[in-house]
Amino acid sequence: MAKLYFRYGAMGSAKTMNLLAVAHNYEQQGKRVVLIKPALDDRFGADLIRSRAGLVRRADICVNADTSLNYEDFRGADCVIVDECQFLSEYLVHQLRNITVDLDIPVICYGLRTNFKTRLFEGSKRLMELADSIEEVKTTCAFCNRKAVYNIKLRSGSGCATGEEIELGAEELYQPTCCRCFEARIGAQNPLRDVDHLVELWLVRHGETNENASGILSGHIEAELSPRGIEQARALKPKLSNIYFDHVYASSLKRALDTAHYAGQDPEPVDALREFCFGDYDGRPIRELPKDWVDALYTFTTDFETPNGENIAMVNARVTSFLNKLAPGRYLIFAHGGVIRTIAKNLGADRFIQNGTALIVDWTHRYIMGTVE
Ligand SMILES: [Zn+2]
Repeated sequence: MAKLYFRYGAMGSAKTMNLLAVAHNYEQQGKRVVLIKPALDDRFGADLIRSRAGLVRRADICVNADTSLNYEDFRGADCVIVDECQFLSEYLVHQLRNITVDLDIPVICYGLRTNFKTRLFEGSKRLMELADSIEEVKTTCAFCNRKAVYNIKLRSGSGCATGEEIELGAEELYQPTCCRCFEARIGAQNPLRDVDHLVELWLVRHGETNENASGILSGHIEAELSPRGIEQARALKPKLSNIYFDHVYASSLKRALDTAHYAGQDPEPVDALREFCFGDYDGRPIRELPKDWVDALYTFTTDFETPNGENIAMVNARVTSFLNKLAPGRYLIFAHGGVIRTIAKNLGADRFIQNGTALIVDWTHRYIMGTVE
């Protein structure tokens, strides 16, 4: 029995060339092909089907959303081939389905799966639902070597996810992309994440300092990144460069700012993100401090009092106050082990993360989404 085929791909996946080659093969064998295209797509003359590689041929039937196909046009046909099927109406897809059943003629539809907002087109949606066979025509991301899955619309070089679904004659605006390159370019209206409603935090702990390495308690004292810490910060660069952030902040302490710079970021310094002030204990070797106090600091379960310094409740208050003022968006924040641990504890998931790693937090719903290591 004849089948309904949906062959989908991203922009530039040579779907039309594939289509013209299939038509050519049928005709080489003396068979008859009926070519259909939506009239909507009239860039090259209403009835012309043209591949990017320059091949052209005339469509036999141009359809609008409400076109009723006449079975007489298909008598004796061996195959029906449809170009730009994403633009078909449901009504047309139903008729194509009927041709496979009533006339026993295979119908092969070529088109895009999704629009630049990553949503199915009307025709593609109905074909996904009804086709006997769904095949992907693969292509490579315009920006890397991964497989393209989405189409990005570029406006002045950066991605955009607003505007009309169909903007014909503007192909140069669209590029096939993989998921990662799409995210890196799409900016604030990313349809893949709900950041328009959420505050998402990427909390990075600064790279190792000389003091970390030698067991010196560092709160508000300045500490220098060790060579290992600089390595850790540099290693963050490729992990962060492909992610869109609405804003980048860092604790105003040098080790956090330096980590951000080595990671290729240009942060705004914020005092509220500084490490605990450890008062009289700041800058002293941890092994010389009262054992009970050190135990309380390490376990983080009961609050501790530091002479002339801050406790967990105080740090939590200043950090939470800063985070609660953030507008919806995705934020990259370079901070400290104690600050990030305080935020994690606030979320009910106490966690002390390693130097040069990050915690990803959905601050709106108060949970930890993941880590970057
Ligand atoms: Zn890519």
